[in-house]
Amino acid sequence: MSEKIRNILFKYDVLLNEILGVAYGTKPSVLYALEDRTVEEFKQIFPNLYFLNGGYGSNPVDKQNHTPNYAIAKDETTAKDLIEAQNINDHISLGRLLGYPECCIRNHYNRSFSTGSKEMIIRSCENSKNFSYLLNNIFNFHSRLNDSKEHFDKFSIYGKQNAYVPRLISQLELISHIPCSYDCEDSIAIGEEARSLMQEYFPEETLRIEATLRKKILFFNMFEWIVFDGDVISKKELRYKDVVWPISLIDKNFILNLKKGNIIKLLEENVQVFNNDKHVYTFEHPLRDKGIILDFK
Ligand SMILES: [Zn+2]
Repeated sequence: MSEKIRNILFKYDVLLNEILGVAYGTKPSVLYALEDRTVEEFKQIFPNLYFLNGGYGSNPVDKQNHTPNYAIAKDETTAKDLIEAQNINDHISLGRLLGYPECCIRNHYNRSFSTGSKEMIIRSCENSKNFSYLLNNIFNFHSRLNDSKEHFDKFSIYGKQNAYVPRLISQLELISHIPCSYDCEDSIAIGEEARSLMQEYFPEETLRIEATLRKKILFFNMFEWIVFDGDVISKKELRYKDVVWPISLIDKNFILNLKKGNIIKLLEENVQVFNNDKHVYTFEHPLRDKGIILDFK
């Protein structure tokens, strides 16, 4: 059965850790845009789960493709509650039904969601003493896009330019919510559960996902960040061996110049790149977003 679950799930662009979480009862429900025939296949491998067609959501891509939103849950009531919460934009109930911790919901989801995930991530960083890699979902932000077509277009470019490892780009996370801090214990527990389920069904992919989530990141905003193989020296300085996958939509010239150096320093007005003591490049902040270093371990 394990092989069958693996083969069917891997054909579709769903978050493997989430759907396994619902199947094993560690997550109450999920919401995906799915075609009816996909749902029929899922029902074969998960006969105990309940699938509810909730009609079209506000996502411009799904509307265009005529793909309905399906709530997947252990029972009908939970699935109905999820569709209802989605229809009335009740972010608190949505967070609870998707299994997000109460501390994270209180911290983020009761504020205006439209402030955008950049501000939410910066707030979480300010609350963090440590950065657990289990909570790194910077590389997979599908659930954090608002409904603008511009966001979906950018996300689609991001997917295409990183698609040389088939399917992996859409699986780079073990939790789906923005945690209240990157050392939130309740979120770490969710990440641990997701990792052990993933290890059981997708062991090779899980090793790659974990290695990628442990990388250091210079984050500017949802679409612009850089991933490094390296060590964080301080909140404002990072020493690196290389710039690595995945690649965001940040200025390609910046990436090329980073490859000439091995140290970045964050200043108030810009980012400076050095090769040991020698200055090699200055990068102006994109859209005046100041960079922030995320030291995932
Ligand atoms: Zn939390």
